[in-house]
Amino acid sequence: MRETASQKTARAAAILDGLEAQMPGARIELDFTTPLELLVAVMLSAQCTDKRVNLVTPALFRRYRTAAEYGAADLAELEGVIRTCGLYRSKAKNLVATGKLLAEAHGGQVPLEREVLERLPGVGRKTAGVVTTHLGGTPAFPVDTHIQRLAGRMGLSRAKTPDGVEEDLRKLVPEARWTKGHQLLIWHGRRTCAARAPACDRCVVAGHCPRKGVKAL
Ligand code: SF4
Repeated sequence: MRETASQKTARAAAILDGLEAQMPGARIELDFTTPLELLVAVMLSAQCTDKRVNLVTPALFRRYRTAAEYGAADLAELEGVIRTCGLYRSKAKNLVATGKLLAEAHGGQVPLEREVLERLPGVGRKTAGVVTTHLGGTPAFPVDTHIQRLAGRMGLSRAKTPDGVEEDLRKLVPEARWTKGHQLLIWHGRRTCAARAPACDRCVVAGHCPRKGVKAL
């Protein structure tokens, strides 16, 4: 029988309850101490692991402390510092352009509105959502590759795009749980519901998951 909307909402809540009980400490795994450091770390994390970003950022954050300093950075020098993050040429270019724009148009501060952040060079919708959701700005349920995969497997969204998945999750999950829900699903995707081989046999929310597209055990 087809699941009703209220049944799906209840199932989404049960999934988040189960994941939260298992991983109460789920949080963003990028290291940062200021809004600017968060923005820079999230920009660097595109197609790169958080672990790798965390290896690079201590030296980067020591060298560049303000938006104006990123804006005035020597491109080759900045590229050298972030080289191991991958796509370092375009990331360095975007960091300089974003630093300039923040210094000139935003008083050196990181905006808390998602739409404003999205206008910065190299800042897409997901990056903007991750930043605002962690800084207490525009509420968001940013969708990365893990969340997109899990939402499909768990039968919470049939959308094919991150924006579509986010829209579905925002309808299913109360706003107060968006930030935590985002983190819990990422942690679950990294630790249990992996892309190639989901560990359904040890998954704490298996009882709430139809495992769509996942081969039977
Ligand atoms: S049961 Fe399997 S597919 Fe479903 S959430 Fe758990 S690990 Fe992922």
